[in-house]
Amino acid sequence: MERLRQTCERIDGRGYRAYQDLRGDYRFPGFELIVDHVQGDPFARPSRLRVRVPRDRAGFPASCFASRSRIVALGDFLARRFAVECRRFSERRGSGKSGEISMVRPGQEILDRSSIRIEAGFIEARFYGGLPAAGRRVLGRAAVSMLCEHLPEIVERSLSFASLEARALETHLQTNEDADRLREQLEEAGLVAFVADGAVLPRRSGVDDRPMVEGHVVPFHSPQSLRRSFTLPSGSTVSGMGILEGVTLIVGGGFHGKSTLLSALEAGVYNHIPGDGREWVVTTRTACKIRAEDGRRIEKVGIDPFISHLPFGRDTGRFSTDDASGSTSQAANIIEALEVGADVLLVDEDTSATNFMIRDHRMQELIAKANEPIVPFVDKVRQLYGDLGISTVLVMGGSGDYFESADTVIAMESYAARDVTAEARAISEKYASERASEGGEGFGEVRPRIPVRGSLDPGKGKRGVKIGARGLKTILFGKHAIDLTAVEQLVDEGQLNAIGQALYYARENLMDGRRSVREIAHAVEEQIRQGGLDTIDPRRIGDYAEFRALELAAALNRLRTLEISLDYS
Ligand code: ADP
Ligand code: MG
Repeated sequence: MERLRQTCERIDGRGYRAYQDLRGDYRFPGFELIVDHVQGDPFARPSRLRVRVPRDRAGFPASCFASRSRIVALGDFLARRFAVECRRFSERRGSGKSGEISMVRPGQEILDRSSIRIEAGFIEARFYGGLPAAGRRVLGRAAVSMLCEHLPEIVERSLSFASLEARALETHLQTNEDADRLREQLEEAGLVAFVADGAVLPRRSGVDDRPMVEGHVVPFHSPQSLRRSFTLPSGSTVSGMGILEGVTLIVGGGFHGKSTLLSALEAGVYNHIPGDGREWVVTTRTACKIRAEDGRRIEKVGIDPFISHLPFGRDTGRFSTDDASGSTSQAANIIEALEVGADVLLVDEDTSATNFMIRDHRMQELIAKANEPIVPFVDKVRQLYGDLGISTVLVMGGSGDYFESADTVIAMESYAARDVTAEARAISEKYASERASEGGEGFGEVRPRIPVRGSLDPGKGKRGVKIGARGLKTILFGKHAIDLTAVEQLVDEGQLNAIGQALYYARENLMDGRRSVREIAHAVEEQIRQGGLDTIDPRRIGDYAEFRALELAAALNRLRTLEISLDYS
């Protein structure tokens, strides 16, 4: 620390480049500081820093490391704490980003993140610090105050067991462990999702993911007929609504809470922090939200189970377009999800293409099958389950034609769930829909696709490889922007950072002209599971959060330069 102080004092008043001398490792009382990368000027992205606290010094009891669930939750908890302390000690100390100290700020999900790494011997925090300057002149004394006085305070307040609130930490770890165990129990119970009694599903707003608090919030309450109970590792028992495998319809009037329930199921692939309201709302890990996404690019996707005989004989067995329609995009989204192993599809009428979802008796009379390329989802949804074992949870307030296809029908009425399966069945017997099924013999084939390595270019001219996220919607990959607006289960900017980097990693290490999109996405997922998020980037960067194979493939499939080779035999 003395050496750091001396360097700062020595370069005081010099040009900003002199800060490059700070690169290296420093021993502080109780921790180590590592300066990995020094920013080029005070207006650039702040410098990349790490601190390492030895495990015995940090003082966390062994129970914090007792399972993978607990270790992930510990990292998540410390990341939140560290980010808060960074904000507390961040202050303007000159021009540009001088004096800014920051760590990526987590949202409502408990995720494995690279900002905090828990290793055998130490706990490491990765963050950013804006080295202080007046204009472009080094402010050495301000740097000393920031790094040698305030940083030790941040470390002491956030990475030491003694300064944390033990009860809150234990609740965090227990919540994550309980949710993981709850999700593991779904399959043997024959469920695809579970929504606990008492859960708070609505959010504050479309741009604020915290639980709704204002006004009349109706906690979830399961219909008696669908109620299940589970025992959790913490010893408590939760009961709530189990959503069975097969086809589930969510019906009800407009504004009665249908989409809110489905959104909670989408988010249920992740665990949530205590107080979120969705702590015990879990969905199987590979459930995938499906929606229409007109305008997206599609590269050689076999959408023929849903769409064939396009005008002018366009091939739908390997369908490509730079500007998909609502129905072709929704078909491609389903096929691509199946390709990487989605086992539950979550569909909302609000974001679906009408002609993809339904084709009623009257329309069948008016437009002959020969002139309609689309086989509507209503004729495929049972085959998906029967042939492939893929369940669907579908919000459909607008058409009763789905009644025949459903195993379970849940009505939302003033935010209360009711099991109306028997009523729906009785209605479909009383009033035949008179539709002719157009689904054919079976679902059809989902074929593997092999990405062409050279079609991914993360380079940006002289500036070398350039990859990053812009919010939750876009990955910048070299000169290209990957639009992920419609990939709704991305919840953390760190996931987009990681997926961008993972595409590059996959390009370098896995795309060999033989491996399929599925194999590549799963290999990345598995390698990260084994080696942590540093697997995709040896620079030890704190910007990454865990993601699923499904979203990695979704990003790859939306890269507008992607080429697929179908040369497999
Ligand atoms: P639908 O899809 O049935 O039209 P939404 O799910 O979009 O309805 O919900 C309509 C509104 O009601 C939203 O603003 C939502 O935040 C709110 N809402 C949903 N569920 C609840 C609830 N349990 N308690 C209070 N408000 C809710
Ligand atoms: Mg809705």
